[in-house]
Amino acid sequence: MTAPVLVSVVVPLYNEADNVGPLLDRIRAALTTLSYELILVDDGSRDETVAKVRQLADAQTKLIILARNYGQTTALAAGIDAATGTYVATLDGDLQNDPIDIPVMLQHAQSGNWDVVAGNRANRQDGMLLRKLPSRMANALIRRLTGVYLQDYGCTLKIFRREVAQALGLYGELHRFIPVLAAMQGSRMTQMDVRHHPRIHGVSKYGLGRIGPVLNDLLLVLFLQRYFRRPMRLFGPAAALSLLTGLVVSVYILVQRLMGEALNLIAWLTLVAVLILGGLQLLAFGLIAEMQMRTYFEGGRKPTYRIREVVQK
Ligand code: UDP
Ligand code: MG
Repeated sequence: MTAPVLVSVVVPLYNEADNVGPLLDRIRAALTTLSYELILVDDGSRDETVAKVRQLADAQTKLIILARNYGQTTALAAGIDAATGTYVATLDGDLQNDPIDIPVMLQHAQSGNWDVVAGNRANRQDGMLLRKLPSRMANALIRRLTGVYLQDYGCTLKIFRREVAQALGLYGELHRFIPVLAAMQGSRMTQMDVRHHPRIHGVSKYGLGRIGPVLNDLLLVLFLQRYFRRPMRLFGPAAALSLLTGLVVSVYILVQRLMGEALNLIAWLTLVAVLILGGLQLLAFGLIAEMQMRTYFEGGRKPTYRIREVVQK
């Protein structure tokens, strides 16, 4: 048995053929003095990314080729699942994050005994209108709603204790909420300013189209954070309120009728039907959510991706 490495460096790659060469050079130069493994995850690239990596990989490098393009979150999850180091470092493969920051962050994680050290792109090199502005608004919203205090949730450059990274349960598009997921697990988390460079080769995979999915994930994360274990705490009171109002309105109609008042019966009965059916639906929904939550825990985690090939020299 060889001793475990100190850090597993995980990089998702989707059509980054022109970046992998300089990326490997920079990672190797930055980490020469550390014991590390490099896990590159090819997320269904359609360009020469895989061929380039095969050519340049050394014994410290593992290439995981996913069966198709799953998205950045799943690519990260596949790399994290394969990690064996005491720590896991994640970074983008487009050279926007700088591997030079890894040793410093690692040092900080060790000396402060932090579970997560999150990079903060203090000097972010992306377009203002389409990238920095929406992301600033998103950061402020996430901060307020989740109560997890970070400047920059979306920076991929982060260091985790391996167990913490592997317990995140990443899927879908949740990579932007990794700090929130980590906080839900009771992680000790801090942030550090890191370098950020403009993208030189290839194109960004995200535009304004990500706003919808991000809001969707935000709702999901809020639900997970507050109600995941007891969905009935959310749906139960709403159902009770609806049913109770339905009942009160029914009594009101009855009393008015008995007193001989003229009522628009159709309108009032429609209201009662909506309230009672709505309440029953909320109740049924809450029960289904509870059942779903139990199956989730009993079923354990199933991999959400298929690996086509693993390449290691
Ligand atoms: N990426 C991926 N799968 C995707 C989209 C992106 O693995 O479907 C990788 C991409 O190769 C890069 C990282 O995720 O290493 C961040 O992507 P990008 O640079 O496009 O995001 P941005 O920096 O513009 O937010
Ligand atoms: Mg980028």
